Amino acid sequence: MSPLRESDESNIPKRFTIALDGPAASGKSTVAALVAKRLGAVVFDTGILYRALTLAALEDQIGVEDEPALSALAAGLEVIVQPPRVNDGRKLDVLFRNRDVTWELRSPEVDRILSQISALPEVRRALLLPQRRIGSSGRVIMVGRDIGTVVMPDADLKIYLEASPEERARRRYLETLESDNAQVYDQVLEALMQRDRLDSERAASPLKPAADAIVINSDDIPAEGVANKIVDAFLQRETFAQRRVDSRSG
Ligand code: C5P
Repeated sequence: MSPLRESDESNIPKRFTIALDGPAASGKSTVAALVAKRLGAVVFDTGILYRALTLAALEDQIGVEDEPALSALAAGLEVIVQPPRVNDGRKLDVLFRNRDVTWELRSPEVDRILSQISALPEVRRALLLPQRRIGSSGRVIMVGRDIGTVVMPDADLKIYLEASPEERARRRYLETLESDNAQVYDQVLEALMQRDRLDSERAASPLKPAADAIVINSDDIPAEGVANKIVDAFLQRETFAQRRVDSRSG
């Protein structure tokens, strides 16, 4: 991937938010990491919050029907995300309740009820402000489902990354082979399609592209190519914004 030219660097503001939404395993995290490196930004994957909450609900035996208890749990959620210290295919270490839960968060047990918990409006409300605080804290790429539509509707750039269910299942399946949690392809595909359906059909903040999002299909484009498109779109946008300011002040 080509590094930024000096003229590009001067176009990067100190604070910005890029919203990167899309269905499960569409490549968001990989692409976000590449874009972040080029733009000197950090990535915040909001899915981790919903996964940690689901793990906590399983551990505390709180059922999906107990929305008040789940939203209270969401309001007190403390998750630590740090660069990986274990070389087992993970992109990050996730620490929660004083232990490393990186792979537990991706277990079939969590996946099974994840979207049902994420569909609860009070849970989403409890997680809204913490996400907004992070999203406006500097140069941030926010990864999720409703970042462009609900969490950061004023994001500087909105991307909706999609890919066919088969391609996404293939990627997720390969990922599981690297972990302690190897799964069967057909089951990965089925679970993924079920999660997409629940995420897209829920009433509260459903998965969908924002009206002003750039939609990119990554079926035939490697992650680097997608990242290039996003960086180009961002820099172009910044150049235009700068020109507008210049012409107003000139
Ligand atoms: O991105 P990931 O697959 O880890 O997200 C896990 C789940 O968390 C999604 O399937 C969705 O139900 C929920 N989620 C959400 N809104 C977000 C991020 C994730 O509802 N912004």
